[in-house]
Amino acid sequence: MQKRFIGLLLSCLLCLGVALPALGEAEYEKYTTRFFGTFDTIITVSGYAQDEAAFTRIAAGAEALFQHYHRIFDAYSLYDGVQNLYVLNRDGASGPVKVEPELLELLLYCREMQPLTNGTFNVALGAVLSLWRDAREAAEENPNDAAIPDINALKAAAEHVNFDDVIIDEEAGTVAFADPLLRLDVGAVAKGYATERVAEAMLAGEMPSFLLSAGGNVRLGNPPMDGRQRWGVGIQDPDVLAIGDTGSQMLDTLFTADTSVVTSGDYQRYFVVDGVRYHHIISPETLMPSDYYRSVTVICEDSGWADVLSTALYLMPYEEGRAFVDAQEGVEAYWMLADGTTWMTDGAMAMAKSQGASARD
Ligand code: AMP
Ligand code: MG
Repeated sequence: MQKRFIGLLLSCLLCLGVALPALGEAEYEKYTTRFFGTFDTIITVSGYAQDEAAFTRIAAGAEALFQHYHRIFDAYSLYDGVQNLYVLNRDGASGPVKVEPELLELLLYCREMQPLTNGTFNVALGAVLSLWRDAREAAEENPNDAAIPDINALKAAAEHVNFDDVIIDEEAGTVAFADPLLRLDVGAVAKGYATERVAEAMLAGEMPSFLLSAGGNVRLGNPPMDGRQRWGVGIQDPDVLAIGDTGSQMLDTLFTADTSVVTSGDYQRYFVVDGVRYHHIISPETLMPSDYYRSVTVICEDSGWADVLSTALYLMPYEEGRAFVDAQEGVEAYWMLADGTTWMTDGAMAMAKSQGASARD
């Protein structure tokens, strides 16, 4: 009798749209922590754990894994006993370099994905990108003397950007550069790729309901365990320099779960010359920052692929980018054009707060 009454009460509440936590969920609480020192950004870990001790242990594991990948993909520093990207860029022209298996895997991933991006995304663009990086760093030190790289120097560097010259020997675990002036830059993919590896570990662990936010790269695990069906992920307004997940300073908020939300934007890294902003996403064609957008956000499950795609889409004019995304399985996108207008795929629209979406059904 009592059971029937509870059953009836439950179905009434559900009919009324009252969200109830699933059995056992009440034991879970949300915790959040932040750390800095990997991938040049603040990384936020949130998740629903049974107690604080469990959360702290899991978040420490995530941080250690980010640290692990950071050292291997770091192109600017040496670490004792780590055959990382710095070592490869330094020695790759002199012959095969034994690299960490994770770096070999990342390069194999890029070799597979790069041809799918309409000639926009190229990790072998390092020689060109380092000229832009030098110019940006010089501008940060002496803003009054800020200047863009010499176009002839850019053109000369662009002679050495063919990924086919990266010789990967999977059996030997080595990589060599057939072109002595080629350099690799994995800035467009490494953070998302590493985030996906961390997410894989977390999904298989005891806190599968999580949000990982690594400066423009967000990876969501299972839905939050507080009755909401979806997490809310803010898309930053390029003109508002604020860090936060949701709120009025956002361009929009996307409600979703079990996926990645990755943004490339002109506000993330840039310098100014004569009032013109030069950002960090460089067209292999013009060798200049592309000026179609303020930001492009990609929503798809794999964070590595989302990272590749956000950079690639940033370099495609809207019509081409839209056709490109429409042809992809499970990929949605949200564009903010240079003039401030926004466009989104139907799937992105269904997630967008501006279109009426919410965290609950
Ligand atoms: P993201 O913020 O993911 O769009 O990546 C931007 C970073 O990717 C830059 O800071 C560069 O290190 C690198 N990058 C810029 N242009 C390209 C490109 N066309 N292909 C591959 N990597 C690029
Ligand atoms: Mg990217």
